[in-house]
This record gives sequence, structure tokens and C-alpha cells, in this order.
Amino acid sequence: MDERPLRLAAELSIDYLGGVRDRPVGATSSLDELRNALSGTLQDEGEAPDVVVETLARLVDPGLVASAGPRFFGFVIGGSLPAALAADWLTSAWDQNAGLYLSSAAAAVVEETVSTWLLDLLGLPASASVGFVTGATMANFTGLAAGRHEVLRKIGWDVETRGLIDAPAVTVIVGEEAHATLFAALQYLGLGRDRVIRIPTDGQGRMRPDELRAALAAGSGPTIVCAQAGNVHTGAFDPIGEIGRATRDRGAWLHVDGAFGLWAAASPELRHLVDGIERADSWATDAHKWLNVPYDSGLVFVAEPAAHRAAMTIGAPYLTTEGAAREPYDWTPEFSRRARGFAIYAALRSLGRRGVAELVERCSLLALRMAERLAEAPGVELLNDVVLNQVLVRFLPADAAGDPGAIDAFTHEVIGRVQADGTCWLGGTTWQGMTAMRISISNWSTEDVDIDRSAEAIIRASREAAATVRAG
Ligand SMILES: *Cc1c(COP(=O)(O)O)cnc(C)c1O
Repeated sequence: MDERPLRLAAELSIDYLGGVRDRPVGATSSLDELRNALSGTLQDEGEAPDVVVETLARLVDPGLVASAGPRFFGFVIGGSLPAALAADWLTSAWDQNAGLYLSSAAAAVVEETVSTWLLDLLGLPASASVGFVTGATMANFTGLAAGRHEVLRKIGWDVETRGLIDAPAVTVIVGEEAHATLFAALQYLGLGRDRVIRIPTDGQGRMRPDELRAALAAGSGPTIVCAQAGNVHTGAFDPIGEIGRATRDRGAWLHVDGAFGLWAAASPELRHLVDGIERADSWATDAHKWLNVPYDSGLVFVAEPAAHRAAMTIGAPYLTTEGAAREPYDWTPEFSRRARGFAIYAALRSLGRRGVAELVERCSLLALRMAERLAEAPGVELLNDVVLNQVLVRFLPADAAGDPGAIDAFTHEVIGRVQADGTCWLGGTTWQGMTAMRISISNWSTEDVDIDRSAEAIIRASREAAATVRAG
């Protein structure tokens, strides 16, 4: 075997990660530069594997975003814990097909173990089933597919065999602030993005439970309610305990999108944010976000395994089940797939129960530190209660006198300057009609100094933007 490309890849990876703290956080080359470097026709003859690896690494480098590093605060991304990354390298080397017990007994059993650990860690029912999917989008899809199965089964309709055409209508209720990918999941499931009932939210983006009760009382028939643990803007949690009581009373299915927020359940200090979450019917989260496992790695948990399995299983004559083994293909929308359990196993063992709690608590404390640093500066308005790892701010130009258009434009300008500066990276958004800067802290390697350096860079950008506005 030619070892050179593999050793080279390990070396290049280690060098990259060794320098990730010191490189500009955003990409440094333009779209055109990258296209010029990477396009061209495919040659007739193949090239030496080590040359290919070296060339790829060199050509893509200026287009890489240092999201593995400590000062990437855009979206909720997270890096990769060393043990998880190493296990992920092995996962590729082992090249297991995790779809079947027979094609990887190791992957199937590791998934069993990881499932038990996760249910315990997150305080979910020990009897729940677990699916290892690509991300929270597919975790939402899978949880909602299980819900679709169950609410229709209860009124005598088998949706897996008969489909949705001519089926009794299913009412889907979501919070006004549900994540965009939840609507994508509804779209894939034939439940429709726009036929949902949207429940108004409060100033932090939390679903209002009184409004939910009113909507539940007004309707009847099979119903699925989607709540959220962790709003991507504010980090706020829908009042899941109250929502759970309302859905139970009505016999509705409750799905919780906890792509990053569900990890609060692993922390004794933050667990109160998800009080009552164990009463839901399905839960979605990501390991590739806050658990700091490499992409792709999402997780779905379903309280009623029969509904989960009915919605996902693939039947074929050659798919014989090996005795008591858990068949991975029963619980995910894919058949052949990556053995996602190995990296999660490594992440959980390297952190331990306490380490997971500390990771979530540390990031949340760093978010508070960021909010405090920024709020000390003139002209920075904090827009959210920092309850988790999200900070939402906007920037007020000195002479705007409350003019919303001028504040939006100025905030937009500051965000652009921070991105170009490269000390840290974060993105813009629109929150309740206002342009805002979103800061998400979810990387295991972020430290106090990273927050302080980044806050300084943000404040500097806002000072410079103010100076240009005055000069112009
Ligand atoms: C990130 C996110 C998703 C989508 O997760 P992917 O892993 O990107 O598929 C869904 N919901 C929320 C709240 C998120 O933050």
C-alpha cells in the first residue's frame, strides 16, 4: 500500500490545526481566485496520490474558513475535539458501511452504546430509540416522520403503505421562530411548509403556551407540535414543560428541535432551561455542533421506538436481522452510510459526563463575557437575554437618533468590517425587523482571550465605521 498520501494528510491536518488559531478566520481569496485555482479540465491520466493530496490542500487553503478554530462565531458550528477527529479519520480508513449489523458489527454495537450514553446524559427516556443521521435537518425529518406515522396510525391510517394522498389531514403547529430547516423537513414529508399553524412568540423568540393551547383547542384530529430548544438568534427555549402538558392533554405528538440547545440538558446548571423535555415524543440534535464532532453527525431520539422504526425501516429479502442485534437501517432515512457512532463515542469518552457539562457551561459563560465586553462600548445595543451561547447585538451610529434604516445600515457595515478584519468571524441576520449581529459560541477551544480579542476587534470595527460615516 502507498502510505505517502495518508501520512501526508495526517501531517497537513496537524499543521493546519496547529495554525488555525493564528490564521484569518474568514476565507482570504475571492470567488474568482478560487475558481481560477480549482477549475480546469479533468486530465486523461491519473496523478500520484500524494501529489493530489498536496495540491488539493494547497489550492483550497485560502478558501478555508477557520471554523475549526476558537474565534469562529458565525452560525452554531463547533469545532472537532481531538479524540473525535482522530476517530473520524479511523472511520474513513475503516470504511465501514454502518447501514447493517452484518456490514459492520462494530459500528452497530458502538451505536448501541452511544445511544445508551446519550439518553442518560440528556435525561431522555432510557427506552427511546436513536437514529444517527447527517444533521439536525434530517433528525427533524426523522422525528417528524415518526410523529406522522403515529398520529395517523391512531386513527387507522397506515401512512407508510398508503401515503398521504387521500389521508386524513394532519395539523402541524410550529412556533413563529421555528428554524428554516424544520420547514424543509415538513416539505420533504409532504406536510407542507405553508399549511402549518404558526404560534406567536415573545420578545426572546419563545413560543407562547397560551396561544398554543388556544390553537390546540380550536382544532381536532391528528396533530403534531414542533417546539424549539435553543433559538438560533437568542438561544431562548420554548417553555417545553408547559407545551408538553398541553400536547399530552390533547394527544398531539410533540417534537423538539434542539439542534444545539438540547445539550443544555447535560449540564446540571443549565438543565432548568429544558425542564419537562422528557415528556416530548421526539427530539432532534446535532453532535457536529456543540458536541464538537466532525461533520456530518446529527441525532434523533424517539420515545416510541415502534413509531420510529415503522417510519424508517427498509424491508428487503436480503436484509436478514442477526438475532438480537440493533439494525442501524431501522432508524435512519439512509441505508448505506458513514459509521457516525465512532466519533461520537470518542467525543463522549474523552469528555466524560463532567466534560460535556463543562463544555456547555464554559461556552455559555464565554457568551456572557462577550455580551459584557460589547455592552461596555458606546453605541452597542444587546438585543437578547444571554441564557446560553448566543449573543445578539446591533450598533447605533451616533447621529441616527433612532432612525431604524440608519441603524440597520450601520450594523450591516460593522458586520462587513469585522468579517474583513479576520480576527473573528460572525454573521448578520434580521431579528424582529432589525439588522443584527449574531454571535454563537460553541467551540471547545475558545478561551477568555479569544473573546477579549474578538470583542476588541468588533468595537474597533464599529469605531472605524463611525469615523467613515462622519467623514462621508
Ligand atoms: C443548525 C440547526 C438546524 C439544522 O441543523 P443541521 O445540522 O444544519 O442540519 C436545525 N435547527 C436549529 C435550531 C439549528 O440551530
